[in-house]
Formats: sequence, C-alpha cells, structure tokens
Amino acid sequence: MPLRANGDPRRRRRGGYPARYSAAGLFRQGLSRKQWPRAWAHHPVRRSYDVVIVGGGVHGLAAAYYLAANHGISNVAVLDKGYIGSGGSGRNTAILRSNYLTPEGVRFYNRSVQLYQRLATELDYNVMFSQRGHLTLAHSDASLRTMRWRAEVNKAQGVDSEVIGPAEVKRLVPFLDVSTAARYPVLGALYHPPGGIIRHDAVVWGYARGASAHGVHIHQNTEVTGIDVAAGRVRGVKTSGGDIATGVVLNATAGWSTLIADMAGVSLPVTTSPLQAAVTEPVKPFLSTVIVSGTLHVYVSQTDRGELVFGASVDPFTSYSMRGSLEFIEGLAGHVLQLMPALGKVRVLRQWAGLCDMTPDFSPIMGNTPVEGFLVDVGWGTYGFKAGPVSGEAMAQCIASGKPPEIIAPFGLDRFAAGALVGEKGAAAVGH
Ligand SMILES: Cc1cc2nc3c(=O)[nH]c(=O)nc-3n(C[C@H](O)[C@H](O)[C@H](O)COP(=O)(O)OP(=O)(O)OC[C@H]3O[C@@H](n4cnc5c(N)ncnc54)[C@H](O)[C@@H]3O)c2cc1C
Repeated sequence: MPLRANGDPRRRRRGGYPARYSAAGLFRQGLSRKQWPRAWAHHPVRRSYDVVIVGGGVHGLAAAYYLAANHGISNVAVLDKGYIGSGGSGRNTAILRSNYLTPEGVRFYNRSVQLYQRLATELDYNVMFSQRGHLTLAHSDASLRTMRWRAEVNKAQGVDSEVIGPAEVKRLVPFLDVSTAARYPVLGALYHPPGGIIRHDAVVWGYARGASAHGVHIHQNTEVTGIDVAAGRVRGVKTSGGDIATGVVLNATAGWSTLIADMAGVSLPVTTSPLQAAVTEPVKPFLSTVIVSGTLHVYVSQTDRGELVFGASVDPFTSYSMRGSLEFIEGLAGHVLQLMPALGKVRVLRQWAGLCDMTPDFSPIMGNTPVEGFLVDVGWGTYGFKAGPVSGEAMAQCIASGKPPEIIAPFGLDRFAAGALVGEKGAAAVGH
C-alpha cells in the first residue's frame, strides 16, 4: 500500500536545512572559534516509524534522503549496528562508472552517474567526484570481443564508451607496460570517459546530513535483532535499543543482508565474501585514469592526495571476516608490477577488507518480497557504491508508491524463479 507524505518535501527542505556551507560561512566560523554544528542530529529512538531502514550505508541513507526529499515521507529511521559508513560504503575504492554489459544495467548505472554529477549541489556537500576516465584492459581476443560488445551496448544507451588500441592506452597512461614482451600483453581497452572516483565517506555524510535535515532519524549503534512478521506482513523490528513498530522495513545491509532477510523469513540467493583493497604512500600525480585488468584481477587509481588505491576480486570463499591477508597483498603486488614495473619501490601503507553480497548473476536484488512491507535493496557485490543514488531514488519511489519503478523492474527477487537473470559478470567481476 502506498505511504502518505507527512510534509511538503520542498518546504521542509527550505525550512529544515542547516546553514549552507560557503566560503563566507567558513570565514565566519573560523573567526567565531566555535565548534561546527553537528552535520546530522541525534534523537531518542521513537517507538514507531512509518519506515525503518536497516543499514546506514550509502544505500540506506540515500533511500532515506529521497523518501523525505522527493516524497515528503520523513517519519523514517535509519538503524546501523555500528557507525554510518562502517560497512562497504566506507571501505570501497570509490570507482563510479556505467559501462556495464546489459541494457538494463547500463541504463540503471548511468542514472546513478547522472545523480552523482549533481550530488554536491543537491546535498550542499563536496563529494569530490572526479570524472577522469576509466580503462578496462583487454589481454586476450576473448576479452577484446567482450569490450566491443560492451561498447556497442553502452553507445546504444547513450553512454560514452569505445574500444581503443595499445598506442592510445599508452598515450593515456604512459607508465603502463604495453609492450608485447609483457606476460599478458595489452591488446586494447574499453575506454569510458565519464567513469571516475569520488570521496566515499563524503557521500555517506552528505546523504546523512540531507536526510537528517528533512527530519529522518539516524540511530547509530542500534542493531536489528529480529523482525516481527504476522499474517504475512511486517509489524515491527526488535533492536538493541528496544522494539519499534513499523509497517515498512527496508533491508539495506549488503554483506549482512541474508541475516536480516532470514529474520523476516525471506530467503535470498546471496552469499557473502570478503573483498580486500590496499593503499600506498602518496606519490607525485602520474595516473589520471582508473585502470582495471580483469585478467590480472587488479585495478588501480590515484587519489587527489597522490596515494595509489588498489583493489582485486573477492576472496574465493564465503566469510564474514573483515581481516586482510598476506596472500592478497603478495598476489596484488605481483600483478601491479606486471602492469607498471616502475612502481617497484612504492610502499603499501594499509590494506583492509569489506563484505560483499554476491548474487548468481552479478546484478542487485531490489524491490518487494513475499512478505508485505519487507523490501530489499541488496546483492551489491563488489560494485554497489556507484549505485547508491539511483537505488536510493528508486527504492524511495517503490516505498512511496508501493510498486517498483521501471528502472529497477529487471532486478526483482522473482527473476530467479522466472529464470530471467541479468548477467553482468563480464562487466562487474573485477571492474567494480
Ligand atoms: C574493498 C572494497 C572495494 C569496493 N570497491 C567498489 C568500487 O570501487 N565501486 C563500487 O561501486 N563499489 C565498490 N565496492 C562495493 C560497495 O562498497 C558496496 O556494494 C556498497 O558500499 C554497499 O552499500 P550498502 O549501503 O548497501 O551497504 P553497507 O555500506 O555495507 O552498509 C550496510 C550497513 O548495515 C549495517 N548492518 C548490518 N547488520 C545490521 C543489523 N543487524 N542491524 C543494523 N545494522 C546492520 C552495517 O553495520 C553496515 O553499516 C567495494 C567493496 C569493498 C569491500
């Protein structure tokens, strides 16, 4: 059943927003010597909300923000068992792109890139989106064929992608070894100029600030321990902070999503695997694009501060462990040096891991479930950060109207029973 708005979104936005960030404000704040006001408010937990969102990552917070901002539904709580962004949203390598393989996927991720392009203005928060271009290297004829296929699907959806040869790759990334003597010579690449990187925690904080300004309650350190379901519909949630009555629960817990779905008696075709990443000391800027090699299971970008951020494919086992391993960093270093031998002396500062909720077709699961009022926005695997805005926008619409909008219709849970998978492995496995 559609939910009723409890406020005019535009009026709430104007009335409730904290002071806009500005150069003059920064100057005034500096002179005042006062603490900055909190970016999002702290509230006691209410005993009842119209909507409870489980998971304070980019997906949960974006859904809360768009529910309030686009639909005027602000009697909403976002619950996180840790702090906001403590899951994949604060651990990812922040690569954004829309050069997927299926028309459904390209359309969906392209809408997200469009929302990201104007997010800093929308949220009044500098999310540092740098559209520096994204290169997926092809080291075999088979992968060149997939790149061509992706380029054509992308172009048909109005997304800028093209296959380029080794000379053009070398021009874009002079430090890359494109010689035929390389162990896996570079035969070409899929070049996607709109792709890039963003400041992931700024996105999380920006959505939290925007949602809070519209009246959403954000409760950190509040773990959901059970979901009350009676007569096939949701009645409330049990939490470490007490019981909350609600008719709508959105599961946005990524790597933990099957645990929450189990509480509602909903079975998801999702497994959880760790994904590791690493960052080096800062070096002089030399890399102005994102580089991905599926064959070598590695990708790299350089931050504005000069650090190199590396990632890989998921660890080859299911686990809820978020510990880094020596095997990962050894394998990663070997593969990076095959691509860029000049990095031999750069030191790794830190490595870490997060949890990824993998689906059989490498596409998300979004929308309603057989339990009325229990919705899912899960199956984000290694590629879900880029989808935060479009997912939030679409899930908010789904909650407000009671039915999934067109853009997420292909990603319903029922596609597995119907055999209508949206196979994205060829574009999502390492590229993230
Ligand atoms: C190393 C790494 C690199 C990645 N790189 C990229 C990339 O470059 N580009 C990209 O698009 N994606 C990338 N991803 C994937 C991306 O990070 C995730 O898909 C995305 O962040 C998922 O966001 P989310 O909001 O759904 O979940 P999360 O950010 O994981 O948030 C889920 C939240 O749920 C909370 N929670 C869990 N259980 C409970 C409970 N019982 N009660 C209350 N709260 C609970 C957790 O504390 C957590 O904060 C990467 C992931 C990793 C780990």
